[in-house]
Amino acid sequence: MKNKWITFREFFYYLSLKKLGNYLLLFCSFYWSRVIKKPRIWGLPTTLSIEPTTSCNLRCPECPSGLRSFTRPTGMLEEQVFRQIIDQTKDHLTYLHLYFQGEPFLHPNFPELISYADKSGIFTSTSTNGHYLTKKNVGAIIDSGLKQLIVSMDGITQEIYQDYRVGGKLAKVEEGLFELIHRKRELKKRFPRIILQFLVTGKNEHQIPELKIWAKNIGVDELQLKTTQIYGFENGSELIPQNTQYSRYIPNGNGTWKLKKEIQNKCWRMWQGAVFTWDGKLLPCCFDKDGQHVMGKIQENHLKDIWNNNAYNAFRKQLLNDRTQIEICKNCTE
Ligand code: SF4
Repeated sequence: MKNKWITFREFFYYLSLKKLGNYLLLFCSFYWSRVIKKPRIWGLPTTLSIEPTTSCNLRCPECPSGLRSFTRPTGMLEEQVFRQIIDQTKDHLTYLHLYFQGEPFLHPNFPELISYADKSGIFTSTSTNGHYLTKKNVGAIIDSGLKQLIVSMDGITQEIYQDYRVGGKLAKVEEGLFELIHRKRELKKRFPRIILQFLVTGKNEHQIPELKIWAKNIGVDELQLKTTQIYGFENGSELIPQNTQYSRYIPNGNGTWKLKKEIQNKCWRMWQGAVFTWDGKLLPCCFDKDGQHVMGKIQENHLKDIWNNNAYNAFRKQLLNDRTQIEICKNCTE
């Protein structure tokens, strides 16, 4: 609770009347669109994810970066493209997550990207597998103005950890976390807030009690137990936890599985945010990992025009009328 409060206070500090007004417009247009079943958008995105790179050092089995299975182009975000996005969005953006697919710390100028967004008045966050929290990077992260660092670690023994984080070294993640936490303490810095994120699967759920003690001892600011998205969940998977509290899926009773949350024809995300791939393409959300629904490209059109174009509104209209017709929405808990 304490971490959420500290983060919220900092988030509030980055707000402006213009950003709040924009948020209100989005909120009202979302509800009005649901009533009339037609998309109306009266504001601009309040949150964004930007992908620094598709490269990754690991080989996680439920991730297209890890499996090297993208059909879309792969590469590194150019700084000039990043600046273009930030310059166009800084007046209405309240939250920037510098992550989509890949390991962001493989981008050679990652701290500079964060710093540019922070100086533009945007609250920044990122996610990492924790293998690059080196002495050099830790200093640069703290200096960059990053507000939230999510470190994914899904096991507290090497055997369980590497079962999902294939190719990962748990000792390296622990060492990096230790370095960052102690450097922050030395410098008396409160940011970035460090969130340890544990994707709960059928293979690691038994470690949760021990994990809670571990997280407290090392001194992360928050521990998040996250449900895992599983492809082909319908026929069951050993990755689905037994404890349904940590699962997005529940058994149907006939050997098949279904989403725990009932799918409704709505999605707030389509009104409040979007995702940029490393090459400047705008996607509707982070479930579109392979870029099947490209709404436009920042190098060709202003974000305002992409956000309101026919393709985007046709997607929103489909969502409001029958979401089950969109493949990526079938496995989404939004
Ligand atoms: S997958 Fe569909 S329902 Fe889920 S967040 Fe994306 S657009 Fe919304």
